[in-house]
Amino acid sequence: MRTPIVAGNWKMYKTIAEASEFAAQVKEANPTDAVEKVICAPFTALPALATLLKGTSYALGAQNMHFADQGAYTGEISPLMLKELGVAYVIIGHSERRQYFNETDATVQQKVKAALQHGLKPIICVGETLEEREQGKTQEVVRVQTEAALHDVPADQLKNVVFAYEPVWAIGTGKSSTAEDANETIRYIRSVIAARFGQEAADAVRIQYGGSVKPDNIASFMAQPDIDGALVGGASLTADGYLQLVAGAAGK
Ligand code: 13P
Repeated sequence: MRTPIVAGNWKMYKTIAEASEFAAQVKEANPTDAVEKVICAPFTALPALATLLKGTSYALGAQNMHFADQGAYTGEISPLMLKELGVAYVIIGHSERRQYFNETDATVQQKVKAALQHGLKPIICVGETLEEREQGKTQEVVRVQTEAALHDVPADQLKNVVFAYEPVWAIGTGKSSTAEDANETIRYIRSVIAARFGQEAADAVRIQYGGSVKPDNIASFMAQPDIDGALVGGASLTADGYLQLVAGAAGK
């Protein structure tokens, strides 16, 4: 039984004041515990959110990190710094980082390893571009990304890993994948995990869908057997939208 997980990825949105207002609003609500709820905020907002959401059922996530504990890496944030704040999850390998910030399968591999070593749960993003999809390369792309990300993951840590299948062409475009297509690729990702760790272990791994998920379409994704939640950008930015997403995922 996989507990559904809905994560808001705020990307580069929200000042500390805006994040605090969001936290106050979601704290008022009493959403279901049947869904694990994660908020992946900008680094600057994490300390305030950590204080405001302490003791609630909302977990905190970061959107990236460096793989080193410390060092001369100007502008970077280390796993130790995230741990100190009480951050539980960290998005690794988001397509925007791959596209604009030189994130590669090699750095994803190092970051996943470092996250797990520090007790942070990675949300590993994989997904094909439109060009790759049109060339029929979807499975090949997600297989290579998945294998690389899992390269240094010990079997006993697999349970702490979450995957997010985010087709790049569906992110922020309003064009979501069909639920059936997303499920097919997610099932394939699970088979790649199974090839390395065995079917039973792979069956326990949660795999989210991401890309233009909204309150009005999340239930259709959740109705698919292999989809265990969503990683949501735009629609997670308002407390109301976020709570509706959580409610929509609860039917699973
Ligand atoms: P949107 O939900 O805005 O399409 O973004 C998806 C995403 O990139 C989440 O990580």
